[in-house]
Amino acid sequence: MKKSWNGFSKKSTQKRLELLKAQALISLESQSSLENNENLSLATADQLSENVVGTFSLPYSVVPELLVNGKEYTVPYVTEEPSVVAAASFASKVIKRAGGFTAQVHQRRMIGQVALYQVPDRSLAAETIISKKADLLELANQAYPSIVKRGGGARDLHVEQVTGETEFLVVYLHVDTQEAMGANMLNTMLEALKPVLEELSQGQSLMGILSNYATDSLVTATCRIAFRYLSRQKDEAREIAEKMALASQFAQADPYRAATHNKGIFNGIDAVLIATGNDWRAIEAGAHAYASHDGTYRGLSRWTIDLEKEELVGEMTLPMPVATKGGSIGLNPRVILSHELLGYPSAKELAQVIVSIGLAQNFAALKALVSTGIQHGHMKLQAKSLALLAGANETEVAPLVERLIAEKTFNLETAQRYLEILRS
Ligand code: NDP
Repeated sequence: MKKSWNGFSKKSTQKRLELLKAQALISLESQSSLENNENLSLATADQLSENVVGTFSLPYSVVPELLVNGKEYTVPYVTEEPSVVAAASFASKVIKRAGGFTAQVHQRRMIGQVALYQVPDRSLAAETIISKKADLLELANQAYPSIVKRGGGARDLHVEQVTGETEFLVVYLHVDTQEAMGANMLNTMLEALKPVLEELSQGQSLMGILSNYATDSLVTATCRIAFRYLSRQKDEAREIAEKMALASQFAQADPYRAATHNKGIFNGIDAVLIATGNDWRAIEAGAHAYASHDGTYRGLSRWTIDLEKEELVGEMTLPMPVATKGGSIGLNPRVILSHELLGYPSAKELAQVIVSIGLAQNFAALKALVSTGIQHGHMKLQAKSLALLAGANETEVAPLVERLIAEKTFNLETAQRYLEILRS
């Protein structure tokens, strides 16, 4: 069926749901679950965390038309920040027209570490441990046999001498965790290795724990956007492309800008991580560590221009060890629905979608910043938030927003004042 997303943002929530159903993106049960706002039950929430006294809701949106490796996705987004979904939808649409994203998973393994200290001879201990590599990998696999049955398991091990205030000997375990993120898997394996490593090194083990710096799970997304997609006016389009490349250079050179540049990327990435039940703290920690992998904190994405082809070229690489199984993924009905909406992707496919949406979000932010300025697009959505905060009801929101926009600068006080005038 031909998918038409024209005017999607202007439709009612009911009409949007009907469109999702009509396009066979969600089942009838999922449509009714969304209509009835069915969410995480209190009983399940009480199992997931401790001291539970309720559940917490956020807006659940979709970003249509994300084209990755020739496949189109309707991406679930959980975010409370105005304009994030609008910006990602705009970017996805433009980049789809320009040919979409190409994404690639370089490798997909998780790394865990056992830190040893008070090791009498670190070089000798390292040699001894490496000579027992095959036995140690076998031991790790015996500690978590189900992942081996699923086709994964411990694949490699290496040792490094790490010197801080104390001299450590660190053993790194590389594990194929299949569809899971693997924190508990890795931790179980590392716990099993600890006593044996103490014996082999003649030292003490401090801890055995997964590392979120997932450099064995790097994913790259790229896109090429012909200048003509940036503006109808040829000169302006080229100027926008040049300024976006400059903005990218700025984020490579200045950590103050890099932090905000990367925050914008995570506006999109976190929204999908939350919607798909992934551990966003884990992915954020790994990505920010990767942003400093050469010793300076830098922007995660790079935009350059190909003058010969008259194209803006975007590229982003970061660790993306997301899961489609494990954790709370099978327990939260709304998370299950997100995987349905995406067509039940594998963990590798999901990682490619997420890195692409991060680059799309970054494209929208940079384009706005170097052309109209970020406030232009934000104003209407901010006015809407203020109208709601001021207490406007469904019929009052639109006229109040219009009044506030006409004012150019506004705050909660202005919104409350105009709401009173509107009511009188
Ligand atoms: P789980 O402990 O839930 O383990 C994965 C589960 O998925 C297992 O029960 C496994 O079954 C099941 N599974 C089903 N199908 C597959 C498949 N095809 N491939 C892999 N597993 C499958 O999750 P993780 O070990 O992934 O740990 C993630 C959780 O740990 C998250 O909730 C995270 O927040 C938390 N965490 C994160 C930390 C960090 O990031 N530093 C630290 C500690 C916890 P079976 O056992 O039968 O194989």
